[in-house]
Amino acid sequence: MSENKIHCSVEQDDQRLLALHRYQILDTPEEPAFDDIVEIASLICEAPVAVINFIDRNRQWFKSEKGLGVRETPLDVSICAHAILQPGLFVVPDTTLDPRFSNNPLVTGHPYLRFYAGALLVSSDGYPLGTLCVLDYTPRTLSEPQRFALQALANQVMAHMELMQAHREQAILIRDLKAMQSELSKYASTDPLTGLLNRRAFQQRLNQELALIKRGTHSAVLMLIDLDFFKEINDTFGHQIGDQVLMNFSKVCSDTFRQADVISRWGGEEFLIMLPMTTVDEARVVADRLHKILDATSILDVNGSSIYLSISVGVSALTDYSTVEDSLQRVDSLLYRAKNNGRNCTVTEC
Ligand code: GH3
Ligand code: MG
Ligand code: MG
Repeated sequence: MSENKIHCSVEQDDQRLLALHRYQILDTPEEPAFDDIVEIASLICEAPVAVINFIDRNRQWFKSEKGLGVRETPLDVSICAHAILQPGLFVVPDTTLDPRFSNNPLVTGHPYLRFYAGALLVSSDGYPLGTLCVLDYTPRTLSEPQRFALQALANQVMAHMELMQAHREQAILIRDLKAMQSELSKYASTDPLTGLLNRRAFQQRLNQELALIKRGTHSAVLMLIDLDFFKEINDTFGHQIGDQVLMNFSKVCSDTFRQADVISRWGGEEFLIMLPMTTVDEARVVADRLHKILDATSILDVNGSSIYLSISVGVSALTDYSTVEDSLQRVDSLLYRAKNNGRNCTVTEC
């Protein structure tokens, strides 16, 4: 950052403070990376006191300090607050001879600071945030190599802070990306209307289950449900009501099947369910329960009229010689038989 690009005016203090707060450095614990820089500054400049100091609205706060024993002081005793008002290295060879500091309590009293040299800490957008400074108890000055080293170390403080900020921003990006990924994979696997698994995701689960069945450790059943005369609901009440019926029926399914059962919206008004560790007879009991619920309770009430639903159901076992295609074909033909038998019934494999 070239010196003439530094924003030093008091009018720009609000923006300067915003720039400082963006680094999220204030009131953070001491850290070895900053402590090392302070130690090196003290060594190279042969000064007993060294500080990484930020000028906040009403205080100066020290990220790291050697020889002072405090982490912050009020601004009215700050020498650095003067340093950030001008570009470049700020050197006060004897504080008692400078009218800005001769009455400063840190000069007239403990710790009797007589010498000050501060290198600006400048934000990437040109705001002076504070200084890396060294102080001594006797009047003195810095050699040219010491001046160079102090400014170079100040630049390293800022480089480290930039890196920390980039790290934070990256962590936020990664978190957002992960959230987006999980949202996307949810969208890719669920039916938007009912929130049930879609056909693609269900087929994946079916493949996994068939692999387990082939190992001989599992048994499972497929149940295909088709809503009877669903088109009539659409034709009578409209598509939106039809959608509501599909949603309500999905809810009935979620409430009726077990947690381990995998429920999908297979197509328009068809639902395919896989019931792991279940026999065909056990699945028939579940299907009968569904028939009874739908018989007894309306699926939706519209303007005082109740819509009742009935379903036709096919149930077949998944066997160790099944392929996905065979299994689907079998359960579909059982459903077809249920339709031919007059609907509102379940047909299982004998
Ligand atoms: P069946 O008793 O033989 O099963 O007759 P059906 O009327 O239930 O079946 P059909 O295949 O004739 O009609 C199914 C209807 O489902 C037609 C289609 O417009 C409707 N449908 C498909 N997807 C949706 C959807 O997402 N929302 C609504 N509201 N309707 C849908
Ligand atoms: Mg259908
Ligand atoms: Mg139907």
